[in-house]
Amino acid sequence: MNFITDNLLAVRERIGKACATSHRAPESVQLLAVSKKFNAATVQLAIAAGLTDFGENYLQEGLDKIAALPREKLSWHFIGPVQSNKTRGLAEQFDWVHSVDRLKIAQRLSEQRPASLPPLNVCVQVNISGEASKSGCAPVEALALCQAVAALPRLKLRGLMAIPAPVADGADPRAPFRALRELFEQTRASSEVGAGFDTLSAGMSDDLEAAIAEGATMVRIGTAIFGSRSSKGL
Ligand SMILES: *Cc1c(COP(=O)(O)O)cnc(C)c1O
Repeated sequence: MNFITDNLLAVRERIGKACATSHRAPESVQLLAVSKKFNAATVQLAIAAGLTDFGENYLQEGLDKIAALPREKLSWHFIGPVQSNKTRGLAEQFDWVHSVDRLKIAQRLSEQRPASLPPLNVCVQVNISGEASKSGCAPVEALALCQAVAALPRLKLRGLMAIPAPVADGADPRAPFRALRELFEQTRASSEVGAGFDTLSAGMSDDLEAAIAEGATMVRIGTAIFGSRSSKGL
């Protein structure tokens, strides 16, 4: 038992309730533990609590933790903005990249994915709230980008990812997640996107209920599992 065990119980209870409300099976929502800004020793506690999938935002920080922890038991997901000079480390060391938002990045990841590894799982990130200066392709670009990514040999296109802006007081918290789900369903219907497009990566500590109500299959939870990042250094 450690502090993460208690936090994890509370998070799983929230996921369970949200699934029950939406008549979904709790196993239909995968929990990605966002470990950015927490060190390998803390991730070790999370592993002891039963977590296997970890999300990182910064390449070097992620690589350090990957090297420090038992590789074969874990899956590492990159969820931060991708700069094109950082793709090699992602292609060589990560299992997933959720934040592909332009074709050039996808092409580099495909070219750099080692032949000895399975294809890299990727999601296309969509700027669903249309925020200026935020990562993600525009919703109208998502289908064409997904079709192009699906054709790349060393990538496996798994779905869409988004980080909706907080909704204004009184507005429907599900609205951006609903827009994302509709885009997901339209994209999945494309014959060029194909099978295996099964992941809707949406929902964080503050909004996982709204995301699950609109079909999220993977929630990315940091604070509710690890505590506040502001008080902890690496
Ligand atoms: C930090 C981060 C999260 C986790 O956020 P919390 O509010 O701490 O749960 C999820 N997704 C992305 C892309 C992040 O950068």
